[in-house]
Amino acid sequence: MPVYPRAVKSKLPKAGTTIFTIMSALANEHKAINLSQGFPNFETSAELISLVNQFMKKGMNQYAPMQGILPLREVIAEKMETLYGIKYNPDTEITITSGGTQAIYTAIAAVIREGDEVIVMEPAYDCYTPAIELSGGIPVFVKLKAPDYTIDWEAVKKMVTNRTKMIMINTPHNPTGAVMTASDMKELEKITSGTDILVLSDEVYEHIIFDGVRHESVCLYPKLAERSFVIFSFGKTYHTTGWKTGYCLAPANLTAEFRKVHQFLVFCANTPIQYALAEYMKKKEEYTELPGFYQKKRDRFINLIKGSKFKLKPAAGSYFQLLDYSDITKEKDTEFAIRMTKEAGVASIPVSVFYHESSDDKLLRFCFAKTDETLEQAAERLLKIY
Ligand code: PMP
Repeated sequence: MPVYPRAVKSKLPKAGTTIFTIMSALANEHKAINLSQGFPNFETSAELISLVNQFMKKGMNQYAPMQGILPLREVIAEKMETLYGIKYNPDTEITITSGGTQAIYTAIAAVIREGDEVIVMEPAYDCYTPAIELSGGIPVFVKLKAPDYTIDWEAVKKMVTNRTKMIMINTPHNPTGAVMTASDMKELEKITSGTDILVLSDEVYEHIIFDGVRHESVCLYPKLAERSFVIFSFGKTYHTTGWKTGYCLAPANLTAEFRKVHQFLVFCANTPIQYALAEYMKKKEEYTELPGFYQKKRDRFINLIKGSKFKLKPAAGSYFQLLDYSDITKEKDTEFAIRMTKEAGVASIPVSVFYHESSDDKLLRFCFAKTDETLEQAAERLLKIY
């Protein structure tokens, strides 16, 4: 096919192939152990797979209702009430989406207009900024504070203007593993109180939080919940990132706007998967036991790499561990990540890609949502890097 003969004016001139695609391809090419992209390399439950299968065989293969099937919205409402003491109306305040990414895009597209400012904390998950820019919004960046990636609320306050339309937060945080505290939530409450500022709270790792710490959802804070789109993903909770199913919770008037975009973007999410999840979510232990499951993986990984030249950053949540390689080389993180994949056979993600402009903290992100065997093999290789 010849290329399109006219000039193409990109709407996202800075976006290329994402680093996740690049590193996974490089890992395949060099047969490296892939700790780069955030996905489990172990199976989801056989029971969940069998449920999807059963619903397919029962004929649940056509469009679902635009907002998602009612039994799934109901079981989500029940879970939110039990865990966070908040009532979301399944009819008007809960929408099932094709994953967290679609939910984030949809929420932003629904409310952000040309010239609106959106505060984004960096390092930030990579889909935030393009979504803001495609809606004509202006991302306003605030750096998380080293060494623990806490939020610098004074810096956030300074960035608030009368054009600020939204503040985006993410807890537990990708890529740093930091979690927000109750005092962070109070600060957010103070900053937004009496304003029209909306909050987008990305809580896709709500159940991957360690050391007995409570997940500080905006849903625990009524004054925040009333101005928030809260985003969740079944992919993280049920080891099914490829199923791309998630949900967005928001007050009815915000949900109405969300659904206007959702219905023309995807119309609805995958039907048999929704039915299967509605059943499977009744097994509460699947999510209540997830923190323990992933804490063991985190601890195994950090124990295995003890004695290596990498320095650990504390990981309080998510399935990522940051490693500081400044004692090994002065190379830029992108260069080192590529060389390590090719020469040492372990793929990771350089943290600089989570910033809009170059940064060089000499940090790599490793995903520990892997089998013990994979973690052992990776650690063996990491121990050899000097
Ligand atoms: N937010 C964060 C912080 C994530 O890490 C991810 C997945 N990597 C998502 C949102 C998107 O979730 P999903 O895969 O369900 O689209």
